[in-house]
Order: sequence, then C-alpha cells, then structure tokens
Amino acid sequence: MYINRIGTFRDHPDLLGVSVYFQGCDAEPKCYMCHNPETWLVSEEYKRDPEKTLKIINEKISNLLTHFPKVSLALLGGEPLAPNNRKDVLLLSKHFKEKYGSRLVILLFSWRTPKDIVRERLLEYVQYVDEFVLGRYLHKYHQDGFPASKNQLHIDRETFEKMVNVIKRREHRDSSIFI
Ligand code: SF4
Repeated sequence: MYINRIGTFRDHPDLLGVSVYFQGCDAEPKCYMCHNPETWLVSEEYKRDPEKTLKIINEKISNLLTHFPKVSLALLGGEPLAPNNRKDVLLLSKHFKEKYGSRLVILLFSWRTPKDIVRERLLEYVQYVDEFVLGRYLHKYHQDGFPASKNQLHIDRETFEKMVNVIKRREHRDSSIFI
C-alpha cells in the first residue's frame, strides 16, 4: 500500500483519531491551493508493508481507546479512492470496523461526489465507511471550520445511502428512456 504518513490528529470534527494519508491523487486538474501536494505522486518511496501498517495503525487506535470511548480513523490523502489506493481503503476499513465496531468512526475524504462513486462503481470500496467528506477542495469556498471548503459534503452513512439510491433510480430511469 502507498501511504504518505500516519498520525494522531483531529481530522474528524468531534473526535480525536488516527489519520492515514494515502499517497497518490488522480484529481485532474489538481485542486488550486491543495493542502497536501506532497501526496500527489505515487512512488516506491511510499510503499509500505500492509501487515506492518495495520499493526502501526492498530497500536495508535488501541492506545487512544484507552483514553476515549470513541475515536476516528480518517482516510485521506491524496485520494483514497484513486485506483492505486481503493483496495487498501477496503482492507483497512474492513479490518478496523470488524475489530472495533461502533467505537471507531471511519471517515473517508474524497474529491469524488456520491454521483462519481456510483458511476465509477466504487461502492464496494466504501462499504465499511461510516462518514464521508465528499467533493473537491475549492479554495474560493475555503472556511476555517469543517470541512475545509463549504461546497464539500460531510454526511453520515445513512444519508450517503439515501443519495446513492436516488442516483441509482435516476440512472435506471434515464437508461430506460432509450430502451
Ligand atoms: S483531491 Fe485532495 S490531494 Fe488531490 S489535489 Fe484536491 S485537495 Fe489535493
């Protein structure tokens, strides 16, 4: 897996947690004033052994859980849903959701919108994600609060699924028109 850095940060609006910054971003063009341009390019320098990575993340989460009832695991980057990262998003989110259940909130950041996720057939990779921050970082909508730009959607799993169902219904209706 390709990871720029792992740390204990507050990337969730309410919870302290562990953040995994994936290496590689497939947004084109790149977002103006991106905060993490060092994560754009995939290179062997950032390749990490999956088992060792799981162990490092686990130590940080279990340590936090000795102090807090609930913590977050933020998956960000870079672009976690870029082709080189998406399988590792599934691997990490499945592993830690099954291990910690509701004590761990898995938060995924992506430049993709719910529509992009449906159209690119990426739903299987986000099945263990609890909350999402979706949409590009647009500097003209920058804010000091959360998320970093006002256009980005911070939604829970329930809202995400409702949106996905609406998008799928619309896709089905539009494709039926041409049958
Ligand atoms: S998607 Fe994220 S990492 Fe990529 S350019 Fe935009 S802000 Fe930067």
